Amino acid sequence: MILLDGKITADNIKEGIKTELETYISKGLRKPHLVAILVGDDGASRTYVDSKERNSKALGFDSTVLRLPADTTEQYLLNTILELNENPDIDGILVQSPLPSHIDEKTVTQSIAPEKDVDGFHYVNMGKLAKGDEGFVSATPLGVVMMLKAYGISTAGKHCVVVGRSNIVGRPMSLLMSNNSEYGNCTVTLCHSKTVNIGDYTRMADILIVALGKPGFVKADMVKPGATVIDVGITRIDDSSRKSGFYLKGDVDFNEVKEVAAYITPVPGGVGLMTIAALLSNTFKAYKINMNL
Ligand code: NAP
Repeated sequence: MILLDGKITADNIKEGIKTELETYISKGLRKPHLVAILVGDDGASRTYVDSKERNSKALGFDSTVLRLPADTTEQYLLNTILELNENPDIDGILVQSPLPSHIDEKTVTQSIAPEKDVDGFHYVNMGKLAKGDEGFVSATPLGVVMMLKAYGISTAGKHCVVVGRSNIVGRPMSLLMSNNSEYGNCTVTLCHSKTVNIGDYTRMADILIVALGKPGFVKADMVKPGATVIDVGITRIDDSSRKSGFYLKGDVDFNEVKEVAAYITPVPGGVGLMTIAALLSNTFKAYKINMNL
């Protein structure tokens, strides 16, 4: 079994971006600028946004976090995004979910200019992905493909089974793997909560990508020997013996499945770190387009 190490892979990607960026900075160009908007005080969201900020700055990006109170109106948020859309010195905008219930997430997502939509959630970018055109791909699926590429895991002609069909992970993942591209060309099966006898499908997978948010859901008897298993799931499990009060668990029963799989991602230390690397990569891409590089 080979462990697909998110830390090493993400660090290599970030190092590549940093080195390329240094050549632009040495020519006197400005830095890429990512703006994250956080509404309210959700603990996990704060952790994610802090991590995005820390990673952006470590690469030499400008990073701004707009921390807005939970009672921010939808109109105020939309006006803020409009200003950011119109600011030529800002390359990427993301709004951390979940938003408070009085704000319509769909309206907010669609208000971000598609060329600054580094999360890849806008209909234009989802549409481009569905058509196989170049756009911004949602960071988690993009991070998974970057991981497969880094380990030289070929995809063409393989059967890829994706479990979960959310708009941010499963669905774009299934499109990416089925597209006619270097790290696509799979035959794809997309499973969800209404799939009957799900093990019959997961056992057929050469590449199994799991994103459903049910810790330990995939057991060894659901996996074909020699498969590549990518665990996107991250659930906080309460644990009073830890300083943080929790630990993270994936959707795959790692200890069982590692005995069957040829390649497997750990949780933590797998896809989560790749998601950040992919977000930074999307921001760098938006910057280069913006700066005509
Ligand atoms: P989500 O929006 O809740 O979607 C879950 C999907 O799983 C849905 O499509 C649901 O089917 C399906 N599902 C639920 N129970 C199922 C079952 N018993 N059998 C088959 N399918 C089932 O979740 P998400 O946002 O995609 O996130 C999934 C997991 O990935 C979560 O643990 C989340 O924390 C994690 N995540 C990690 C990263 C990262 O960077 N690593 C990024 C995003 C999310 P229906 O559509 O039929 O309801």
